[in-house]
Amino acid sequence: MVKNLVVGAGFSGATIAYLIASKLNEKVLVIDKKDHIAGNCYDYHDKNNIMIHKYGSHIFHTSNEKVWEFLKQFTDFNQYMHKVIAVIDGIETTIPFNINTLYDVFPNSLAQRLETKLLKQFEFNKKVPILEFKKQDDEDLKFLADYVYEKVFLHYTTKQWGVSPTDVDGAVTARVPVYISKDNRYFQDKYQGIPLNGYTQVIKNMLNHPNIEVKLNTDYKDLTENYERVFYTGAIDEYYNFEFGELPYRSVNFKFEEYDREFYQQNTVVNYPCNYDFTRIHEYKHYLNDKSDKTVIAKEYSEFFEVGKNERYYPIPKDENIELYNKYLNKAKEEKNIYFLGRLGDYKYYDMDKAIARAIELFEEVKQNNG
Ligand code: FAD
Ligand code: UDP
Repeated sequence: MVKNLVVGAGFSGATIAYLIASKLNEKVLVIDKKDHIAGNCYDYHDKNNIMIHKYGSHIFHTSNEKVWEFLKQFTDFNQYMHKVIAVIDGIETTIPFNINTLYDVFPNSLAQRLETKLLKQFEFNKKVPILEFKKQDDEDLKFLADYVYEKVFLHYTTKQWGVSPTDVDGAVTARVPVYISKDNRYFQDKYQGIPLNGYTQVIKNMLNHPNIEVKLNTDYKDLTENYERVFYTGAIDEYYNFEFGELPYRSVNFKFEEYDREFYQQNTVVNYPCNYDFTRIHEYKHYLNDKSDKTVIAKEYSEFFEVGKNERYYPIPKDENIELYNKYLNKAKEEKNIYFLGRLGDYKYYDMDKAIARAIELFEEVKQNNG
């Protein structure tokens, strides 16, 4: 009998599967209901040899040494540093909003005044979440805070989450703070990059172990065998047949377009916080510097997740949802052999490095319990 079942071949599933197979020398069956491995990080070369990120742009970034060292066993990375351009009132500028942005969107004299006041009020290099930034007494800074709230956050967040920034967990908008700095990068993590052969290849390398068997197009609910341990990276509410109710998610619809020219835009990601129904446009060939005289972009439209209609992408961090999640988790604790992990299993807005770190941590626990 195979001892371990891993449900889901994304980063969470692949990490725990690899660790059990290689460190405990036990057999692992990995299943996924999709027809491919890599979960939401799945990428592939299209007919123009452009690496497409099927479920949205994925940029690896971490300051977690352990995760970086772990992943480096399976891939090399390029030296890509992610920058995001936003179009505000027709002007292309940098997101997160920083000191350079002031000079793009305001006349020079006003930008200088605001810069001086900002540097008096905040330490250089500080990241200030927008909801905190809005609490200003100074008239100029109040004007700036209202401007940033309106032009960067209000409409984008409403498009993305269906509610205004004040009704979204502060940690969500804090991912893109107001940055008292001239650093135009989206992330300041020590390690960042794109795997040289793509994410799917990384996961393939992780799963390429004699103790691991992978079965695609296989849904957990159709399995009949028993397993000593089950690691479940799918949605916990679905596992329990929505017994306490459905956990809500946001989904995303990517509309792909191919153009018969070399480039569509100058950057991988351009945000449209104020205009259009989509939130951002991705142009994939920039990530690995793919050469082609054609280009492929995707416009990203956010929508509610509905069972059977679209995919779960973003858990919605909100007290009532966490309460509901905890009901499921308490039920899971009554069972002996099931472990939930990953963005869907933990119902947490994990980036890739956090999903991997969580799986490594869980493995350490399992290893200890193993004696
Ligand atoms: P998933 O990748 O979702 O994998 C879960 C797998 O389980 C899926 O393949 C699913 O098919 C399978 N499954 C579910 N239920 C069943 C079942 N019943 N039976 C069989 N299989 C099942 N992170 C970053 O670090 N940088 C980024 O730039 C970034 N960009 C993102 C952009 C978008 C639009 C989204 C949605 C996420 C982004 N992320 C990014 C986060 C990243 O996608 C996640 O951290 C990562 O995918 C989590 O991996 P996972 O294995 O937990 O989940
Ligand atoms: N956000 C915004 N305007 C932007 C970029 C981000 O309002 O131009 C807010 C929005 O609420 C978004 C959140 O910040 O959901 C986090 O943005 P991030 O780019 O981290 O989202 P992800 O890449 O995970 O979709």
